Amino acid sequence: MDSEPTHAPSADSASEGRRCHGPFGAAAKGTRCPDRARFIVSRHIDFPLPVCPEHLGPALLLARNVLWPPHISLVR
Ligand SMILES: [Zn+2]
Repeated sequence: MDSEPTHAPSADSASEGRRCHGPFGAAAKGTRCPDRARFIVSRHIDFPLPVCPEHLGPALLLARNVLWPPHISLVR
C-alpha cells in the first residue's frame, strides 16, 4: 500500500479554497464546516456560497441573498 496508483487529478491545492461556507456563509463566525464544498449557491449582490451536501439545504433557507428559485452549481 506504499505505491498506490494515484491517477487522481492534482487538484488538492486548488480545491483547498472550496471549503464549505455553510450554512450561513463566511460572515457567520463559529460555524466553520470542515467539509469540502460540493455545491455553489448563487446569490444576489453577494459572493457565491460554496457548501457541502449536508449544508446545501440549510444554506438555501438560511443564507442571505440566495437567488430564488435557487441557482446551484456543482463543484467538480
Ligand atoms: Zn458544510
